[in-house]
Amino acid sequence: MTYSLRKRVLVTGGAGFLGSHLCERLLADGHDVLCIDNFFTGTKENIAHLLDNPFFELMRHDVTFPLYVEVDEIYNLACPASPIHYQLDPVQTTKTSVHGAINMLGLAKRLKAKIFQASTSEVYGDPAIHPQPEHYWGNVNPIGPRSCYDEGKRCAETLFFDYRRQHGLRVKVARIFNTYGPRMHPNDGRVISNFIVQALRNEPITVHGDGNQTRSFCYVDDLIAGFLRLMDSPDTFAGPVNLGNPEEFTMIEVAETIRNLTGSRSSLVQQPLPADDPRQRKPDIGLARSALGWEPEVPLGDGLKPTIAYFERLLRRV
Ligand code: NAD
Ligand code: UDP
Ligand code: UDP
Repeated sequence: MTYSLRKRVLVTGGAGFLGSHLCERLLADGHDVLCIDNFFTGTKENIAHLLDNPFFELMRHDVTFPLYVEVDEIYNLACPASPIHYQLDPVQTTKTSVHGAINMLGLAKRLKAKIFQASTSEVYGDPAIHPQPEHYWGNVNPIGPRSCYDEGKRCAETLFFDYRRQHGLRVKVARIFNTYGPRMHPNDGRVISNFIVQALRNEPITVHGDGNQTRSFCYVDDLIAGFLRLMDSPDTFAGPVNLGNPEEFTMIEVAETIRNLTGSRSSLVQQPLPADDPRQRKPDIGLARSALGWEPEVPLGDGLKPTIAYFERLLRRV
């Protein structure tokens, strides 16, 4: 890559699961990366291998405070993502989404920089239609224990589109569906991490309810490819656009696939289905296909292998 094509890219939440993969990919593409993180859920370990790269810079910073730096593009990923984490300090979760968006949009406005927002399928709440297209407005409880995350992300979307209308900012909003891969958190209670850790320890695999509920899982490399496609899309396209893998699996199928891939002796045990657990979740990625020419390529079985290898390394150290 020639110098003139090298962009200075800011990644907020860059020490997290998705952020660390994004930083890696941007560096591999020849860009200059500024990673900022307050290390609430992210770790230095996730980015330790990047620290020797002269084009990578790490800054401890909380996005709820203003940030004055000079960059060409901004990816705003900072926000705890799983209920266990975002419910630890719900007020800070809302502040991170809302004040964080305002600060990053203010930064983008001053710099005339393009800005990407990591939104979520949770903006659809407990959806009344399946699968959810982007024009569905959602069904979100504004005052419940998940609201700090769902409403925080919805307000961030509002801010992105108001800065676009009011200040002519170039914005890109991705609604991310369940994603998995190396560096996901081992203790955040998500199904893929729980099942892999249980299988590797030969402990019972905890299937909630009858295990016939379905989910779709996107491998992290596919998702990051979608981020880049969206960032590089024409300025007239802002989204929001769903990014995820539409292939659906029951939790029993996921448990059995993981058990086979790990060669585990774990049994499957049933546990009560949590309240409000959706029967089905699957993204409608028609818009991502048509507007970005993007679709996931990695089947679950293939993506689980490096994910399992990651957890094997992690468990060896505990
Ligand atoms: P993660 O928890 O691994 O990463 C979030 C990062 O943001 C962490 O490094 C954390 O320390 C940092 N952070 C949190 N609050 C901050 C603050 N106030 N200032 C600076 N840094 C802060 O989660 P992830 O899975 O990598 O998620 C990244 C983004 O993608 C989040 O915005 C999340 O809402 C969104 N998302 C993720 C998924 C998924 O399946 N992983 C699905 C939908 C949306
Ligand atoms: N901001 C920032 N970095 C900048 C410019 C702005 O962090 O380089 C923050 C600052 O806190 C400001 C917010 O972004 O309050 C919104 O900026 P904007 O210009 O939209 O509004 P202002 O509040 O400055 O009128
Ligand atoms: N689940 C499960 N066992 C676990 C953890 C989760 O059967 O140990 C189920 C959970 O009840 C849900 C599905 O797996 O039906 C996906 O859960 P996750 O929390 O990963 O994602 P979400 O429900 O947010 O899509």
